[in-house]
Amino acid sequence: MKHRHLIALALAAAILPAPVASGATERKVIGRSVDGRPIVSWRQGDPKGDFRVLVVGSVHGDERQGMRVVARLRQNLAGRGGPKGIGVWTVKTANPDGTALGTRRNARRIDLNRNFPFRWDGSLNGGYNSGPRPASEPETRAIMRLSRRVGFDLAVWFHQPWGRTLAPCDGQRRWAFLYARLSGLGTGGSCDHGRYPGSAVSWQHQATGTTAFVVELGPGLQPRAVINRHARAVIRLAKRMK
Ligand SMILES: [Zn+2]
Repeated sequence: MKHRHLIALALAAAILPAPVASGATERKVIGRSVDGRPIVSWRQGDPKGDFRVLVVGSVHGDERQGMRVVARLRQNLAGRGGPKGIGVWTVKTANPDGTALGTRRNARRIDLNRNFPFRWDGSLNGGYNSGPRPASEPETRAIMRLSRRVGFDLAVWFHQPWGRTLAPCDGQRRWAFLYARLSGLGTGGSCDHGRYPGSAVSWQHQATGTTAFVVELGPGLQPRAVINRHARAVIRLAKRMK
């Protein structure tokens, strides 16, 4: 394990440039997975922006199309820059072991989206295994640290394959509904009463006051136009909320 850590560190040092000055991309290793893979955040947009956005492309390793949305968003922000006043953090995958293995859960077979401390439910197992205790997993803790440090105003988490924007049934719903309009991915007409125990979005809302919701892209490979529309919708939503 130690050896693997060293390799991962060496790789990270090789591919990650030092943090750069304002206006450019700042990449940071915010934590490591169970198997020592780096969890990397990119900070782009207005470096002085006081409206702060987080976009996570994937937390279930077998739901990967959101990673394309993140790639597109990064490209857009690198090319055209972003709107004034908005800082954008992106994490392609919060579950790099699951992404590498093509599995929903992390390397210890824990569902990271049930491992967060808010309304954690220790009785969950199988595909929804919530872990031995709240925030038991290093991937969970990496996202928690980032969230606490930055204090996001908006967080959008991509999943698959339901093909719906999930609108929380509280004050956040209006923004999820607006996202649904901007992205073209409807909510199905109502808000989502399923308060998933230990989920990332419910913890972020409760712990840091972030407006946080899930976007469930459809199954399988998504058309490029859909990916592009979501990348644009995140920024358009941030501009409306700001
Ligand atoms: Zn999912």
